Amino acid sequence: MSPIIEANNVSRTYAGHGGLFRPKSYVRAVEDVSLSVEQGETLAVIGESGSGKSTLGQVLLGLAPASAGDVRFRDAALSPAGSRQWREQRAEMQLIYQDPLAALDPRLTIAEQIREPLDIHQIGTPEERAQRVDEVARDVGLQPVHLSRRPHELSGGQRQRAVIARAMASKPVLLVCDEPVSALDVSIQAQVINTFRRLQRMSGVAMVFISHDLKVVRNIAHRVAVMYLGRIVEEAPADVIFANPQHPYTKALVSSVPIPGKPLGDRVILQGEPPNPAARPSGCAFHPRCPVAVAQCRTSVPELHSNAEHRRVACHLVAEVRGAAA
Ligand code: SF4
Ligand code: MG
Repeated sequence: MSPIIEANNVSRTYAGHGGLFRPKSYVRAVEDVSLSVEQGETLAVIGESGSGKSTLGQVLLGLAPASAGDVRFRDAALSPAGSRQWREQRAEMQLIYQDPLAALDPRLTIAEQIREPLDIHQIGTPEERAQRVDEVARDVGLQPVHLSRRPHELSGGQRQRAVIARAMASKPVLLVCDEPVSALDVSIQAQVINTFRRLQRMSGVAMVFISHDLKVVRNIAHRVAVMYLGRIVEEAPADVIFANPQHPYTKALVSSVPIPGKPLGDRVILQGEPPNPAARPSGCAFHPRCPVAVAQCRTSVPELHSNAEHRRVACHLVAEVRGAAA
């Protein structure tokens, strides 16, 4: 099966703020990222803020052009943003982000907003559109009474359901979700995650699920890619990542997630500054915070190697172990 979306060695660089006496700097928000997501699959992209996850999501949708590398959508090159071909591709991919209030128009009813993409892309007859609104509202767990309300008359969870309904109305094949439940209460988060899972089972939509919250990711991801300062440092099936993380950064992230029925083991507390794309350390960008860094880590960037378990990992020490075992 060919992937729905595929990124090959994608980078995204933008000009930072120069100062009066400072030259313009270039920030590498995403660097040499390759990934793919298949139909019915959820790839979670995790990492702290500043790791480049959101920028990667924008690049996958064509909203931010890649400075190097290429993105393929359903076996075709992603066309430049704004082009007719891109608009056709874009109709099949949807973005959901953190703040449903910002995504919704305060003046329109929920039904009108869910219907909007169908009107824009002229999908179906007016009756079919009305039917689709009812259907997709039900799919996301909205009640018929919600449809005539305006965003401020709904709870945060209901608003995010409305945003999801609008995204799913046109039956996209790809959803990029950027922190879609981060603004919701924890009790509501689980319900909305279940809604995503149900929608995926029903429709086969491929999902890129961007989050800093591993507790959330645990309940939805099939595979997890861990980003640090623009690079993927580890990627593996979700159960493998949680049971046996190998990259020191992943180990630290996973060690902070409580697992029901299991005592918190040796928790790795990350020292040092959180990632700042404008001040990227040399060598392995994680080295100033890495509890097991060696001299080589300061000078040489570890490559992302594949090993068994369908895992990719970028760490000199893990590569050594791998080399020794081979
Ligand atoms: Fe730590 Fe070095 Fe591995 Fe980077 S390459 S994660 S600094 S051990
Ligand atoms: Mg972000």
